[in-house]
Parts: sequence; C-alpha cells; structure tokens
Amino acid sequence: MADNLFSHLISNADADRTALIIPGGGVVSYRDLDRMSARHANALGALGVKRGDRVAVQAEKSLGAVLLYLGALRLGAVYLPLNTAYTTAETSYFLSDAEPALFVCDPAREGAARDLCRDGRTTVASLGGSLDPVVDEQEDRFETAAVSASDLAAILYTSGTTGRSKGAMLTHGNLLSNVAALKECWRYTAEDTLIHALPIFHTHGLFVALNLTFFSKASAILLPKFDPDAIMQALPSATVLMGVPTFYTRLLSHPRLTAEACRHMRVFISGSAPLRAETHEGWRRRTGHAILERYGMTETNMNTSNPYDGERRAGTVGFPLPGVSVRIVDPATNVPAGTDQIGMIQVKGPNVFKGYWRMPEKTAAEFTPDGFFITGDVGKVDGDGYIHIIGRQKDLVITGGYNVYPKEIETEIDAVPGVAESAVFGVEDADMGERVIAAVVPDGSRDIKAEDIEAHLSERLARYKRPSDIIFLTELPRNTMGKVQKDVLRRHYAEGWAPVAARPNAREVENAR
Ligand code: AMP
Repeated sequence: MADNLFSHLISNADADRTALIIPGGGVVSYRDLDRMSARHANALGALGVKRGDRVAVQAEKSLGAVLLYLGALRLGAVYLPLNTAYTTAETSYFLSDAEPALFVCDPAREGAARDLCRDGRTTVASLGGSLDPVVDEQEDRFETAAVSASDLAAILYTSGTTGRSKGAMLTHGNLLSNVAALKECWRYTAEDTLIHALPIFHTHGLFVALNLTFFSKASAILLPKFDPDAIMQALPSATVLMGVPTFYTRLLSHPRLTAEACRHMRVFISGSAPLRAETHEGWRRRTGHAILERYGMTETNMNTSNPYDGERRAGTVGFPLPGVSVRIVDPATNVPAGTDQIGMIQVKGPNVFKGYWRMPEKTAAEFTPDGFFITGDVGKVDGDGYIHIIGRQKDLVITGGYNVYPKEIETEIDAVPGVAESAVFGVEDADMGERVIAAVVPDGSRDIKAEDIEAHLSERLARYKRPSDIIFLTELPRNTMGKVQKDVLRRHYAEGWAPVAARPNAREVENAR
C-alpha cells in the first residue's frame, strides 16, 4: 500500500481540509474524496475491473472524472484518459490497442461506444449515465490495493504525428517521485489553492496539477476549461495558476489583469509549450510576477524547472529537478555538448516511464545503452546552467546539408515591428532537400510585408537560414496544450495554402497533437 500513489494523495489525516472547489457545485473535502473514491473503486470492481486492468475514460472534465482516476489508482487498475476531442475512429484505435476492461464515456457517446465494444471484451458505462447507479450502491470503504512502485498507474497516449499514437506506461513510482520533486521545487504547501483550468486527460492537468494538489493537501478550484473571466474571478482566492503559454497570452489581453488583481497569488507556472520571452516580460510588467517555466513530457513527467528562488530566466526551462539527470549530446557522436552547443536532450531518473505499451522494440530504440531516454527535443545549456529548448528534432530543417533550427529564425522574425508571432518549418525541395518556410501572424499595428521581414533577416542571418517563402496567417494552428502544429502547417503549405485567411479547422488542429 505504501507504494500505491493513491495513499500519498488522499488520506484521512487531512479529512477536513478542502481538496476541490467546484464553482457552482460546492466544496469537496479530503474525507469526501476518500469516501467517494472508495465507492468508485468498488464500482470499478463491480463492473469487472481487476488489478492491472485498463480503465479508459473519455469524459468531460468533472468531479466524476477525478474520482474515476482516484478509484482506478486505489484498485490498482491502470487509468487511461482519452481526449474528448477524439473521433470514434480514433477512439476505436485506442480501445483496440489498450484492451481496457472498462470504457467510461459521456452519455452522448454511449451508443457509439457500445458499437465499438461489441466483441464483449470491454464493458461500457457512462459518467452521468449508466455508471452512476452502480457507484451509488457501493460502500464508501475500500482497502487500497498493495502495488509495487514499478506497477502501472496510468497509460497516456502520446501525439501521433508520425505513425500511430503510442501508449506511455507510467508507474506509481514515476508519478510519486515526480510529485515529490515538484512539491519541493515549487515550495508547495497545504495553504496553496490552485486555479485548475487545464484538461485532465494530459500529463499537465492530471499529474502535475491534480497530483501536486492532493500530495500537498492543498486545494484546487476545478474550472471546466480555460476561460479568462473565470480565471480573473478566481485570482483573489487562489495562490497558484498552472497554464500553457496560451493562458498567459490570452490573459494579458484581459483589461482587468493588474498587479492588484494578482496580489493574493504566490506563483504562476507555465509549461507544455514554449513561453515566449515577450509574454514573460509582459506578464512581469503587468502583474509584478515572473512566470515560472518548466519542461516535461508525457513519457518523462517533469524534467526541469526554473528556480522558485533565484532568477526565472525568460526563454529557458531552468535546471533539472531533484533526482533527474538531463544531458545534451551531439546526435552523431553521443558525446555531451559543451556550453551553448545545441544537441539532443536525454533524460534519466525515477520520473522516466516504463516504456510504450506493447511496443518493446520502439521502447528500446528510444533509450541509450546507459539508460537515458531520448526525448526528441533539441536544446542547449547556457553558461549559467539554464536549459533552453530549441524545438523538436523532427522540426529541424536540413537545407543543402545545413541544419536550421526554426527557433533561431522565429526569434528574429518576432523582433520585426508589426509581427505578433511566427512559425518556421521545412518543406521538401528537389534541389536542397528541404526549404525554409515562415508563417507569420501580424499584430495589426502596421501594414507589414514579406519584404520588411526579408530586409530584417538579410542583415542578421546567413542566406541558407532565410525563408524562401513567407506566408501571412491570422493565427497559428495550435492544439489544446498550446503547441504550434507544424505538421498542419507543412501539410497546408504543400496543398497550396491560401494566404492570410486560410486556417486549418479546429478539429484537425486538435487531432494533430
Ligand atoms: P507532451 O508529451 O504533450 O507533454 O509534449 C511534450 C513536449 O512539449 C516536449 O517534448 C517539448 O517538446 C514540449 N514542451 C514541454 N514543455 C515545454 C517548454 N517549457 N518549452 C518548450 N517546449 C516544451
């Protein structure tokens, strides 16, 4: 039981403390969570789920979804959250790959879910529908299953931008070690109240935000989704906000965002996608707070963080978390890179996942012989030890044999007056292998032309790094976690992107993660 993550998250010793505040839906104490998660664990058992079985959940963010997570942990089952934006066809792949004993969905999807699970291997129930009477009739006591630290707690599917989505297997030990490291690093205490506006099917909202709240016996205001007005309303009663960079850029355009509005706040944390230095500076000017940026991924949990005390350096992700080793190596030789030298980021530690579900070969290929996980991220360490993320390796553009790191070009383009943001990507080229293309979003302050950008770049960048084509867009395609979808840009460019007005539709962007 000591190794079961659940017993570190919920305990009766803290029974009267508030765990969750549901706007319009009351307050949930740790005692409530203990009892309700016991009911859910019993209900899962009643529906045939056994230790080690997968419980797939594709449901709107709600207290019920949180309880399913806790109930699954408690039972020793493997929690498998799925993005609600997935189509039936996508969901079908996850179900056939993971073979869950139970699939819980929203009532509106239950019919389609039953069709998908016709073979009878997976039981279907709906949250707010057929699951509820089963939960209601259960006892509110449950003996938390004894598991070992290496037993699976969850499977989270990663982005399927190249090939099929892979299920990252996360153990109780992975999640526990990471939440302990974050608590220490961010000085989290029972006095904290988090504004929780992230989705809970992803590592950020589920493990960083929820686990840290429960592990610290703190509280979270559980908002159904990101809504700037709701965040502004929650600020005076909260101490922490965790968000993706889009949260911060959108909040910056809120007229009521001031230092006074943030007076009660202790820390603002950002991750899952790069936070632009401009956003960091803008936030500091408006609120007096330096956003604390951290870096992690589904497979590794969190790896690095800017310091709580000390300089939170814009454009960097800080230092390795306690117990986590991060190294940057030359991809060709695997020799550690020197200061400011760009290379591949590799990570080792108790935070690193057990492997990809039913993909032993793929798993083996992603680890070095000395046990480091090859993240696929490109980065460097500066003279003061701060780690910088340059981008994903697959976004590296190789043109005429030269490596072009999109971030370097994007930083230059973003400095041109009239540019709000940009994304640089490579497209196939018969002559050069790849060509550099820039998608630019104007900020509307002036009339900006491709020639203005070209003139700026010609003074600053070698010719091979300069874009052969600059297209203007009204916004960049981003997924739910705020990541720019370069695959979508590449594809639309190849299909003859109609400039300015063309936007990939929302579903497509959502799916491209
Ligand atoms: P996911 O598995 O969806 O959490 O995505 C993980 C990827 O997001 C990492 O491999 C990075 O490429 C990116 N990422 C996460 N945090 C940051 C950050 N602070 N800055 C830049 N990229 C980040």
